[in-house]
Amino acid sequence: MRPDILNPLFAPLAALPGVGPKTSKLFERALATPHGGEARVADLLFHLPHSGIDRRARPKIMEAPRDQIVLLEVTVVEHRPPPNTRAKVPYRVVVEDDTGDLALVFFLANHQWIERSLPLGAKRWVSGKLELWDGHLQMVHPDKVLDEAALAKLPPVEPVYGLTEGLTQRAVQKATEGALAKIPDLPEWIDPPLVAQRRWPTFHDALEQVHRPQGPEIFDPQNPARLRLAYDELLASQVALGLVRARMKKQGGRASLGTGKIADQILASLPFSLTGAQIEALKEIRADMASNERMLRLVQGDVGSGKTLVALLAMATMVEAGRQAAMMAPTEILARQHYERMLPLCEAARVKLAILTGRDKAAERKKTLAALEAGDIDVVIGTHALFQETVAFRDLGLAVVDEQHRFGVHQRLALGSKGEAVDILVMTATPIPRTLVLTYFGDMDVSMLREKPAGRQPIDTRALPIERLDEVVAGIGRAIQKGARAYWVCPLVEENEDLDLAAATERADVLRQFFGDHVGLVHGQMKGADKDAAMEAFQRGVTKILVATTVIEVGVDVPEATIMVIEHAERFGLSQLHQLRGRVGRGSGRSTCLLLYKTPLGEVAEARITIMRETEDGFRIAEEDLKLRGEGEVLGTRQSGTPGFRLASLDVHSALLPVARDDARMIVDKDPDLSSGRGQAVRALLYLFGRDEAVKLLRAG
Ligand code: ADP
Ligand code: MG
Repeated sequence: MRPDILNPLFAPLAALPGVGPKTSKLFERALATPHGGEARVADLLFHLPHSGIDRRARPKIMEAPRDQIVLLEVTVVEHRPPPNTRAKVPYRVVVEDDTGDLALVFFLANHQWIERSLPLGAKRWVSGKLELWDGHLQMVHPDKVLDEAALAKLPPVEPVYGLTEGLTQRAVQKATEGALAKIPDLPEWIDPPLVAQRRWPTFHDALEQVHRPQGPEIFDPQNPARLRLAYDELLASQVALGLVRARMKKQGGRASLGTGKIADQILASLPFSLTGAQIEALKEIRADMASNERMLRLVQGDVGSGKTLVALLAMATMVEAGRQAAMMAPTEILARQHYERMLPLCEAARVKLAILTGRDKAAERKKTLAALEAGDIDVVIGTHALFQETVAFRDLGLAVVDEQHRFGVHQRLALGSKGEAVDILVMTATPIPRTLVLTYFGDMDVSMLREKPAGRQPIDTRALPIERLDEVVAGIGRAIQKGARAYWVCPLVEENEDLDLAAATERADVLRQFFGDHVGLVHGQMKGADKDAAMEAFQRGVTKILVATTVIEVGVDVPEATIMVIEHAERFGLSQLHQLRGRVGRGSGRSTCLLLYKTPLGEVAEARITIMRETEDGFRIAEEDLKLRGEGEVLGTRQSGTPGFRLASLDVHSALLPVARDDARMIVDKDPDLSSGRGQAVRALLYLFGRDEAVKLLRAG
């Protein structure tokens, strides 16, 4: 249950002065509430102003910055009302100071109001955007026209908020004032010595300082008030992750000792040997599995570093120990691909492998479920379908979660609860910067695969304007004649699936004019069976060019493919480009990646393409990506709806993260039920930041 003390902060926005049912919709749009539900008072408070207008700077007219909002001290010198017959001409009022003059411009003006507010000869303070129009300075519809008394009441710095169409600064300011008045006195949840040492204000004061700026320094992300709020948010997420981890650890673990027999058989049927990094990761995983503690390990590795094989060998070890293993993939295509690649290896080692997805026919599914429960299946690969309640194992020992960031914390838990103290191995396709590992996965042990399998050749990455499409098509024609295979990726068009599809379909049609039946097409809206068929045709080389929307982004493995064309590369994020490029360069053949872009190229897009050409190091790319865009996007969390951060920004606040982690660890260790005084305060914090999933864990025991 949410502590009652928080009720005012969870009240709907319509409870605030000046917010009605209509405007609250506008607010909702501007706030983009991460929980997806109705906007609440707290959401408004967490919508921090991004900048401020400093009303204390009083530039002279000629020195005032153009195209910015300024406050000027002026004398009214002339009124130029529109002639009666021409109502579309604005009412102009000329004002001046000792450096020059400008016109205040009012369309469809209320003449009486203008005459009253701007009497001839009077001194006034006007605020608005100063523009140069036709050689003259003007200010259209000043947002403020003040006399001396009104000026005295003006806040020194006026906060400026992110808006949506139809919503005004004034409306947000007014509602926020109302929201500030509703903040209850909350107990301190941060470790008091830390608050003292950093000279942080209380939660309440911090919000007031940020929303009622007294000077420009408050907009510095390192300002104590902003740091404190960022810390609050980070602490909430770290405590939530800490509780998940504590619960998993509390259930204890079981020692699962392999014999090495099955893994050796698998290795013997492979045409290559493991890389040093794979051997090291397996050693760490096996040590975890052999111990009495529950394994919570993250395997991080760049695309093509061979994580899937590590997962298979870990699962083999679990089977050697007499238990079952499950591996969960984010998409049908991937689950099926894992299954097909593992099948011959498992057959060679007499491991019984099955697949379970949402697409299985009822009878088939029933058989698989029965076999899982009876223990007739050793290893199962699947999608989200593995979470379902009807899925039961005889003795699940290991759950592998592939491409983890697409799954949420509770999904991870759901799979973990399918057995007694299941060991958990998480694999990330994107190399994630250290700070993000901590933020999104909490305190997990990490194995890194930094080394790529031997014999890989660097990928020749080139960027070309789309105008050179003809050359590209001709080049691909030559390459496929020599037996090459190519991916051709079309991007998401304005997040509209239909347009997205149209672009890919159209491209496929164009390519078919040149290459006929050699062209395949796969996209997100295809039926599962058709997707498989398209993928399989490409895998077997029946089709040589596979036109795809980003469905192929994650994990698809066709070593024979050596060309990757990415159309509208400027629309992709850096990590996405890297993932896509990682689909080639997997065999020993020399691979090429062509980034086709539309001119003119924006600054960020150009930076991304430059980095892509400079490096193939996924870790470096991930760091650069983090610099170029928000951290949520790096993990694709914005698409999948995992709540991101509103007050903390990891590019500027990452130094707080280890502090929050240590603090969270201390809280969870000392007071695992959050029942002490501080524990109660931390509970409130979790609710406030929408991390109450974790509180439910407490009750579930
Ligand atoms: P990831 O999942 O990390 O992107 P995969 O596990 O899909 O990478 O491996 C990419 C390709 O490399 C696969 O075709 C796999 O068979 C191959 N591979 C894996 N380990 C090795 C190795 N040690 N030596 C050579 N090839 C390997
Ligand atoms: Mg993989």
